[in-house]
Amino acid sequence: MKFFVNSDCIGCGLCPSVCPEVFSMTDEGVAKACDCDVSGSTAACAEEAQQQCPVSAIEHD
Ligand code: SF4
Repeated sequence: MKFFVNSDCIGCGLCPSVCPEVFSMTDEGVAKACDCDVSGSTAACAEEAQQQCPVSAIEHD
């Protein structure tokens, strides 16, 4: 499973705090997802971040 952050991100910082294995903040102040295939407990935390994102900016394939 691969995660993406779309252009709706408002840079609230929630997803890196929920799932730092997958999400980080860029120098532009928005989130990005790792360029990696995630599974198991890592995918579970990334999905939790997706559910908690206030602007639904996190997507996955
Ligand atoms: S939780 Fe959503 S709005 Fe907040 S930094 Fe992550 S992608 Fe952006």
